[in-house]
Amino acid sequence: MIAEIIINRTAKKLNRTFDYNIPKELEPYIIIGSKVLIPFGSQKKLEEGFVVGIKEKTEFQVKDIAKIEDNLTDKQIELAKWMAKKYFCNISDCIKLMQTPGTRTKNKEKRIQDKKINTIFLKKSVEEIDFEIECGKIKSENQIKIINFIKDNEGVTIPEIEIFTNCSRAIVNTLIKNGYLEVVEKKIERDPLANKKIEKTSKLNLTEEQKIAYNKIEQAIENRKYESFLLYGVTGSGKTEVYLQLIEKTLEKNRKAIVLVPEISLTPQMIERFIARFGKEEIAVIHSKLSIGERHDEWNKIKEGEAKIIIGARSAIFAPVKDLGIIIIDEEHDSSYKSEATPKYQAKDIATKIAKEEEIPLVLGSATPDMTTYYNAINNNGITLLKLTKRANKSSLPKVGIIDLKQELANGNHSMLSQELYQSIEENLKNKYQTILFLNRRGYSTFIMCRECGYTVKCKNCNISMTYHSYENKLKCHYCGYEEPLVTICPECGSKKIRYFGTGTQKLEQEIHKEFPNASTIRMDVDTVTKKNSHEEILNKFRNENIDILIGTQMVVKGHHFPKVTLVGVIAADSSLNIDDYRANERTFQILTQVSGRAGRENLPGKVIIQSYNPENYSIQTAQRQSYEDFYDIEIELRKQLKYPPFCDIIVIGFSSGKEEDIKKQTSEFYKELLENTKNQLNNLKISLPAPSPIDKIQNRYRWRIIIKGNMTEELNNILNNILKKWYDKNIKDTKITIDVNPNNMI
Ligand code: ADP
Ligand code: ZN
Ligand code: ZN
Repeated sequence: MIAEIIINRTAKKLNRTFDYNIPKELEPYIIIGSKVLIPFGSQKKLEEGFVVGIKEKTEFQVKDIAKIEDNLTDKQIELAKWMAKKYFCNISDCIKLMQTPGTRTKNKEKRIQDKKINTIFLKKSVEEIDFEIECGKIKSENQIKIINFIKDNEGVTIPEIEIFTNCSRAIVNTLIKNGYLEVVEKKIERDPLANKKIEKTSKLNLTEEQKIAYNKIEQAIENRKYESFLLYGVTGSGKTEVYLQLIEKTLEKNRKAIVLVPEISLTPQMIERFIARFGKEEIAVIHSKLSIGERHDEWNKIKEGEAKIIIGARSAIFAPVKDLGIIIIDEEHDSSYKSEATPKYQAKDIATKIAKEEEIPLVLGSATPDMTTYYNAINNNGITLLKLTKRANKSSLPKVGIIDLKQELANGNHSMLSQELYQSIEENLKNKYQTILFLNRRGYSTFIMCRECGYTVKCKNCNISMTYHSYENKLKCHYCGYEEPLVTICPECGSKKIRYFGTGTQKLEQEIHKEFPNASTIRMDVDTVTKKNSHEEILNKFRNENIDILIGTQMVVKGHHFPKVTLVGVIAADSSLNIDDYRANERTFQILTQVSGRAGRENLPGKVIIQSYNPENYSIQTAQRQSYEDFYDIEIELRKQLKYPPFCDIIVIGFSSGKEEDIKKQTSEFYKELLENTKNQLNNLKISLPAPSPIDKIQNRYRWRIIIKGNMTEELNNILNNILKKWYDKNIKDTKITIDVNPNNMI
């Protein structure tokens, strides 16, 4: 028999099958989906590959498969092929997500026990390293093997690298010396749930609303049919209880469940709720802090059918579950469900595909659904809407007030705290309650704003804030490339108080210490949350040591439950309004709703103060009223007028090259080809001229792009795949190209 094999390499040219002979002794074991070792080209080392097809004979002279390492199912291979086409990447890129992490037998004794260990991370971006491998700057096969291993398993230890790659630590040290890898000392917390006695909980009596939602989804479980549901419920409305009971039902039917949550919410607190209901043995948890050995164990536990409930971040959607009965995606609006690395997949798409194939329900839960999800739900576009409008434990939603910062300024208050926020903090300190101060800053770019009237410069074509480029001293639109000179006088009100906004958690902490010298504070932002210091440790400290004030960026907003937090202050709601992204208002509304949901979650009443220069902005106003529907109604009209998702997809074709003249030439050729091939669809597509990306040069590589606004139809997907294929066949060495559909970031 002959196997058709895909080589596990990132090189685009290798995204095709090669024929190999299946030796007699391996025949009983090799199936579609097997991971094998094969001789390839002239190299001495065996290459890794995946069997994607099996046939009787071949016209070619072929070599033997040398060894078999792991098996996937043919369903997984089909999914990988589907993904490769949909997300414009190699099949091997997709298969990697489905493999058992580290397939070699691991040495159980080597499990990490020390308190502090050295872990290895990539020092450069994956893209950069891939490129250096592709153009031959990194040549040693062992070095490439180690790098590829770490790409998939950041945070492993050197002994683990030795076991899983069969390479010596000397090679790791060379890579560290050459600046590809770095050592990070990490404190290891033993499994925090290992010795903890968790009280078993039993199901609660569902509220009327919960019951209606539950019954609808239960029917799909009973009848074994595919259906997508949006469980839209305000914060604390008892969505998780509904999930738990649906899972119970699924287990009764001898089927299994996958629950996806945003990585940052995979806290012991959350997992405890599942363990309390179902017991530890039934559950597999997959997250980035597991060692490779632990991940290997969890994967096997799933494969062998021991784990019945799989909880994990985005990639857990690929867990090798047999007899899947339900998929639940919590906080479905969260941007972490979209992968920004190759394959650039959206976990919700994968979940839909799997749910359809397995004929099972898919449940998307959120208090602030993604615009597209909600649009589809209310327009009968394949999603059934289920609503929970009240908090389940009868605690009331917090009182939300808006403070106009322009007014504060007019009153001579130049500090970051308004009069009212100042007084509320003072009072909270007196009562020994806790406070969260939230500095809403997303992204990378600086924007400018008039402090007198709140005016920000927006692109006239795109209605998106222009970004300040300091090196050119210009304002630019990241969507269409439109430029404007810098303003120093406000065109609206003539004021000279134009300010350039950057970050500010540190400054805020200093200000708090000055104003409230006796208050204890803890800060959570990109500086304090490092590879060493997890956000979870900071949150535990905040809770356990009863620290007065937590100061942080958006990391503080995700589903944490602090009974003693009664005050939440949003320092400047405007920063996320002015990101150069069409989702600015949506993100602002989501973040304000979520952060408000942190206040007064139990019997103490909660208070939220939102400070803003744009108090009349609809995303802030509707967040104050805590009305998603109001927000949605306004936002959807704007999206329709300006043609943004859900009314189209935004397809970013990115190019990078070391030479500026090359990238200009390549992008313009690609553009011509694109126009030529889409001639008869131009009514439905808006194709931008090739233009430099917002960050137009990274590490000496120029970055350009073409943006298509339109629906990513099957036809357009075929056209793009065909152009790409021709492109790769031309074998243009220096220029790299990626296609990303509805990316999170527009950099
Ligand atoms: P969500 O997931 O929507 O944020 P949770 O499931 O965390 O909401 O529920 C919020 C609180 O309400 C939790 O303390 C939970 O135990 C409680 N709760 C949920 N459903 C019920 C119910 N039917 N009866 C009583 N309390 C409930
Ligand atoms: Zn002004
Ligand atoms: Zn523009």
